Amino acid sequence: MKTGLETLVLPAGRAAAEAAARTLAGGGLVAFPTETVYGLGADAANATAVAHIYSAKGRPAFNPLIAHVADLTAARRIGRFDARALKLAEAFWPGPLTLVVPKTKDCPVADLATAGLDTVAIRIPAHPVAEAILRAFGGAVVAPSANISGHVSPTLAAHVESDLAGRIDLIVDGGPVAVGVESTIVGCFEAPTLLRPGGLSRERIEAVLGAPLARPPVDAESDDSQPLAPGMLASHYAPRASVRLNAHDVAHDEALLAFGPARLSGQEAAAAVMNLSPAADLDEAAANLFGYLRSLDAKAPRAIAVMTIPEEGLGEAINDRLRRAAVAR
Ligand code: AMP
Ligand code: MG
Repeated sequence: MKTGLETLVLPAGRAAAEAAARTLAGGGLVAFPTETVYGLGADAANATAVAHIYSAKGRPAFNPLIAHVADLTAARRIGRFDARALKLAEAFWPGPLTLVVPKTKDCPVADLATAGLDTVAIRIPAHPVAEAILRAFGGAVVAPSANISGHVSPTLAAHVESDLAGRIDLIVDGGPVAVGVESTIVGCFEAPTLLRPGGLSRERIEAVLGAPLARPPVDAESDDSQPLAPGMLASHYAPRASVRLNAHDVAHDEALLAFGPARLSGQEAAAAVMNLSPAADLDEAAANLFGYLRSLDAKAPRAIAVMTIPEEGLGEAINDRLRRAAVAR
């Protein structure tokens, strides 16, 4: 991960918004205020930058992130809005409502940002500083809360600084944020579903829909009681092929997900081989994880054999996700 960075703190304003946009475009990490909490932003289209969010926060698992945009036009470049989703967007954006919708066909959001899902969570924040940054940048910015994993969400730039100084590029100080309550998340599925209660009440959403929101089934295998989206929309990406971990060899009808410089016996004859990071860089491996799993799965191998990945840094989150994929059958 990136450490020993010089973290710049700028007061909110035009110069800060422009600096933030340049930093995001260069793959850097920028903390900025939204009306809910301070977010830690990265270019949603840049998988390496998204991987750095996880290493900066020390997050031990990859959960999908919310893509923040400046307006509905930008939202519709990344997500497909049906009539009900549009109705909710028009009623409550900008504001503390996140909508989970299918990705567009040419959605630029990195697989790591959606944790490999075919859906994307989108929101337009109602905060002038966030808006100025998103407008100056133009694209979607994924932004979980700007704190070390397990710490409380930051409502002041000083909270961000004490957690993340030296790990991120820029903090835009826009003063205290109002509430510190997260956004309400609604899945725009066949039955619109309340995935997470938050800053916008269920009643107000149901009044606009003219119908009750469905309750999500709880993901039984998940230790963090993340909501599970119904039907086609599982909360975790799982390949169709079975997944075999800690492989020391590979069969001719298996695909190999490699890591590091070593070669395995049988590798030449394998159905397909992709290396997450020949240089054994765990951030690079994280950035490639979901895309490579999808590519290997598309070859319809009997199984995907995965080389051992060290349980350190982002390796912990990579292994967490691979273990879930391995038990998914
Ligand atoms: P936050 O903690 O505010 O950054 O919100 C991230 C949360 O949004 C995740 O933990 C998920 O619960 C939810 N989320 C993001 N993307 C999706 C998605 N594609 N499908 C379902 N839930 C999602
Ligand atoms: Mg958080």
